[in-house]
Amino acid sequence: MSSEKSFVHEGNLGSRRLRDLGLTILGTPLEVVLQEFQRELSACGVTKVRPHFYLSTEWGVPFDTISIAIPFYLVRVDLTDFHAERGLVEGGGPSDILRYLRHEMGHVVNYAYRLYERPEWTNQFGDINLPYEEEYRPKAFSPQYVDHLPGWYAQKHPDEDWAETFAVWMTPGLNWRERYMRRPALAKLEYCDRVMAELREREPLTTAEDPDEDVASLESTLDEHYRAYALDKMEVPADLEEALLTIFGEPGKEPPTTPRRAAMLIRRLERTISADVYRWTGWFPERARHLLRELSELAEKRNMTYAEARETAVTVALTTFITALAMSRLHDAAT
Ligand SMILES: [Zn+2]
Repeated sequence: MSSEKSFVHEGNLGSRRLRDLGLTILGTPLEVVLQEFQRELSACGVTKVRPHFYLSTEWGVPFDTISIAIPFYLVRVDLTDFHAERGLVEGGGPSDILRYLRHEMGHVVNYAYRLYERPEWTNQFGDINLPYEEEYRPKAFSPQYVDHLPGWYAQKHPDEDWAETFAVWMTPGLNWRERYMRRPALAKLEYCDRVMAELREREPLTTAEDPDEDVASLESTLDEHYRAYALDKMEVPADLEEALLTIFGEPGKEPPTTPRRAAMLIRRLERTISADVYRWTGWFPERARHLLRELSELAEKRNMTYAEARETAVTVALTTFITALAMSRLHDAAT
């Protein structure tokens, strides 16, 4: 039985239905991280709301519940690899998972006590009924918001602003009063601190679990699931070849002494660049990834190389190019 099982895993993983993967949190390294998170909650005095954890396709908390959805690919190494191979970049290490949990817990507390109905909450964060824009246009380095998840995530929606504020408030060892001393975002943190002191001994108003999209109920196969993530073909700038020549240098003009293949370098940097560009600009990592794939294919076709000694220089040039493009795309979309 066990050999049959491992054969299936090593074989065509993509054709397996999510619900048939038999995924569970119990007994996995994720369970250990969740225990650590429970200790963090106790340490900051959040003991009356006990979040319910379940596996789904992405992080989230269904509205008006206390259930935290955790991405299924975090419970098994082969699934984490499968996810990463598709270039999707959501952290999988314990510290990244704790970071997401602190954020999601903000939603749980908000819904459990219906904080969003309080006028002071609305004053600080805005109206929870504002439309939820997947494609938000963050203003980089705005002092009005806290920094927690990458991509200036607090700027996405009032509910996210609160969740990010809560996450900063509960982060162990973080002296938020000092860090945000000179930023208007401090008022949001002070509000969070006041309200959490008030709720310390208070029973929650809602304890509904209602998990949405529980992985145990999902009919789609892994391949189908990831196909849904693929972006519509983003238009790629017409002058990509020109950009490549600027970054790597004209081929044959100055033949490198120890030539390295440009395509390989681009592929190697794909994940880091897309994650970091997202962190600082809010441009979706899938977009940068798509662009970097196009660049590496083009570099392969043109047989582009660079001298080993120039590796740092071409890495900086490539990163700057993608960042500039991300900024201009975000700017164009906002106007
Ligand atoms: Zn959120």
